[in-house]
Amino acid sequence: MTDSKRFEFRYGDHLIPFERVTRRSVSNRILIKVHPDCRVIVSSPEDADNDAVISAVKKRGRWIYEQLRDFRKQLEFTTPRQYISGESHYYLGKQYLLKVIEAPDQAQSVKLLRGKLEVSVRSKSTDKVRELLAEWYRARAKEIFAKRLDAMLEQALWVEERPPLRILTMQTQWGSCSPNGCITLNPHLVKAPRECIDYVILHELCHIAEHNHSERFYRLMNQVMPKWEKTKARLDGMAMTLVPLNPEQDHDFCQPNRAVRFISQ
Ligand SMILES: [Zn+2]
Repeated sequence: MTDSKRFEFRYGDHLIPFERVTRRSVSNRILIKVHPDCRVIVSSPEDADNDAVISAVKKRGRWIYEQLRDFRKQLEFTTPRQYISGESHYYLGKQYLLKVIEAPDQAQSVKLLRGKLEVSVRSKSTDKVRELLAEWYRARAKEIFAKRLDAMLEQALWVEERPPLRILTMQTQWGSCSPNGCITLNPHLVKAPRECIDYVILHELCHIAEHNHSERFYRLMNQVMPKWEKTKARLDGMAMTLVPLNPEQDHDFCQPNRAVRFISQ
């Protein structure tokens, strides 16, 4: 049987609550676990007194604080979107406030107006706003990606013909290049800064010359975008913010490692 009690300890300016769980065990050790939902659980032998437990927890204060900080950051990113006014959404690396307008007699639309992303809907519904926004992002992606592909082709002298471009939502990739040279890009990429879009397109164009990530591939990449590694890191850092979780994963916070590694293949 376990019995739990609530305590807290101070770490710097932070008051950190934790739960003490006692266990009947031969071991005298005090075990501290920080959970992805930000609960701190300390399990200790029944006969350990509270002061000993608190002192053990304090000793690991820095580690607990750092774990909590990382998990909180992840929770922030994984909070499901509600698609309501005041929420911020990204487009070309900039944040725009969402404004949802209910206009029963007007055509439903999405507009980027005066620094706001305005969505007009006949009746307010999360699903409808989500759907309209997704369509808008897709249309913007199609246009922007085509333009950036043309611009990047001027540097990619090894590409003889303009490759076909396809837009496809992918959970773990920004882009890909098929063996016959068709380039696929993730519509969510249009939320990223332009240089990140250029980086993914150049990466895929390099694959037209070199299908693997060989030394020659990177030589080519360094030639056309000498600071690509910095841009890649910037894009990787934004992945969790730019790409929403699967609806069925929306409430699954217990995946501390959803640091999805976005790869361009
Ligand atoms: Zn690749």
